[in-house]
Amino acid sequence: MSKQGTLSIHTENIFPIIKKFLYSDHEIFLRELVANAVDASQKLKMLASSSEFDGEMGDMTIKISIDKEHKTLSISDGGIGMNEEEVEKYINQIAFSSAEEFVQKYSDKSEGTNIIGHFGLGFYSAFMVANKVEFNTKSYRAADPAVHWECEGQTSFSMAASDKADRGTTITLYINEDSEEFLEASRIEGILKKYCSFMPVEISFDGKTINNTKPLWLKKPSDIKVEEYQEFYKELYPFAEDPLFWIHLNVDYPFNLTGILYFPKVSNTFEVQKNKIHLYSNQVFITDEVKEIVPEFLTLLHGVIDSPDIPLNVSRSYLQSDANVKKISTYIVKKAAEKLAELFKDDRKSFEDKWEDIGFFIKYGMLTDDKFYDKAKDFVLLNDIDDKFYTLEEYTAKVKPLQTDKNDRMVWLYTFHHEIQDSFVQSAIKRGYNVLKFPHPIDNHFMQQLETKLDKVSIKRVDSDTIDRLIDKDEKTESVLSADEQKEVSDLYIAAVNDTKYTIKTEALSPDEAPVMITQSEWMRRMMDMQRMNGMNVGDNFPGGYDVIVNTNHPLAKKLVGMRKDEKKKDFAKHLFNLARLTQNMLAGKDMTEFVQRSIEFLD
Ligand code: ADP
Repeated sequence: MSKQGTLSIHTENIFPIIKKFLYSDHEIFLRELVANAVDASQKLKMLASSSEFDGEMGDMTIKISIDKEHKTLSISDGGIGMNEEEVEKYINQIAFSSAEEFVQKYSDKSEGTNIIGHFGLGFYSAFMVANKVEFNTKSYRAADPAVHWECEGQTSFSMAASDKADRGTTITLYINEDSEEFLEASRIEGILKKYCSFMPVEISFDGKTINNTKPLWLKKPSDIKVEEYQEFYKELYPFAEDPLFWIHLNVDYPFNLTGILYFPKVSNTFEVQKNKIHLYSNQVFITDEVKEIVPEFLTLLHGVIDSPDIPLNVSRSYLQSDANVKKISTYIVKKAAEKLAELFKDDRKSFEDKWEDIGFFIKYGMLTDDKFYDKAKDFVLLNDIDDKFYTLEEYTAKVKPLQTDKNDRMVWLYTFHHEIQDSFVQSAIKRGYNVLKFPHPIDNHFMQQLETKLDKVSIKRVDSDTIDRLIDKDEKTESVLSADEQKEVSDLYIAAVNDTKYTIKTEALSPDEAPVMITQSEWMRRMMDMQRMNGMNVGDNFPGGYDVIVNTNHPLAKKLVGMRKDEKKKDFAKHLFNLARLTQNMLAGKDMTEFVQRSIEFLD
């Protein structure tokens, strides 16, 4: 006897809405149907273990097949199946009540397009790609007759007796014209690999097993060998370099979360590395967009998070305010910090060796997450030009005696490249000062954070002033030149340099300092860097951007004032100015050619 029915009076518009809102993600219909098959199989296993089911389990493999000729795709399971009442209840009624909820919630919101995963609409997502769906199902209760159900994407369905003899459900989709890609074996295999690779029941397609039912993250960490973690990483990211290390997540209270997060080799190219974490819910792949779930800096990590406690039926903006999601995020930050602290403590040498990769990650974390800063401040390292590493505390102890200025502020000196800035670095070393390496753009932000967080510390680039003023100890050097002579030197340089980009300053420095040097104040440099980082086109010709410091105590200053011919004086000043530009890598083009020519003439 066959039964006809109407699905629900409210649902005339459900099919167009399913199509519209889940449009970009059509392929997930397969995940939904396979997940249902897995659920049905798991339920049977549970019944068997509580002896509510004592029949033969038989082959529980979920089989997926394509029939190109008839344009159908089938999914077949050996799970609990459904009897007539169950189909009525779970398919005809329940699904549609959640469909209705879906319609009410999202029919007028663009947010609908961003919904992760499923809505209790799983089964009906088949209509995104099929114009007709049918299934035959037989309950595990052997006495209940099998049921045939079919629906052509309208609000009416038909239900009849089926001759299906074995337990389980086989669902067949009559793929619509727009969706014929889903009749291609390679496409189906791709989707299965993406969403079903770690589902807990064996899945086969074209005779090939798709999944690994016992993924590594579900095993006890103490039972796992190092090579297994490495192999799993290769399985997830076949083309990636070996990870540096990893954390195994495993909590069941107050939320349930398992997973393995790997620290990849980052090397300052973080833009391309993001979005590598796969989010699973009970071994079903959901998404690799996890930025609402883990803090921004942790999206640099790779690996898997599996949690049934991350709500999937909500919009992304809601997700961020979800209490569980917040707890999960805090937990992951804590775990990452603990792992780093442990590595630092147990094997500092190897921690230092990996600094090039993890340093960036740690600084990024400290900048964007205050809780992480508090933990990382004890193991973040500073690297000096001799390639020695110091914690913040160690460094403070090291440089405090010599590098404290007259205002009782400690001054840390750094270079972005110690060879390019060698002359400045050497001046600092002559004074017994230490010079740090801060080569990366992120270091600009990092130092500002340190200055804010640490008490009385200023961080200055070695070429941001003369060495005596970088760490001003109020030690005055007597001027060799008279005030008039100094004025003359100043005027000479103003005429010789003749460029608004430079401000000329005369200073009575130690005679063994350079005769002329070019500096840029720390403040000016940071401001220009910030503007550049904000996409502004700041050239290097900003008026007053650089200072030309003329050392009036250098013997050559005396020589200059003693020269007779004005023209010669100007040439002489210009030449010394060019030498200063040369040490700062600022001499190029015509100026460079002229400079070389002049040098040759001097030697003549
Ligand atoms: P959900 O899976 O979120 O509950 P679905 O619309 O996908 O929503 O399925 C509705 C219900 O139909 C399921 O909860 C289950 O009871 C039943 N069902 C779906 N597919 C199967 C299947 N392959 N075997 C047995 N029952 C199924």
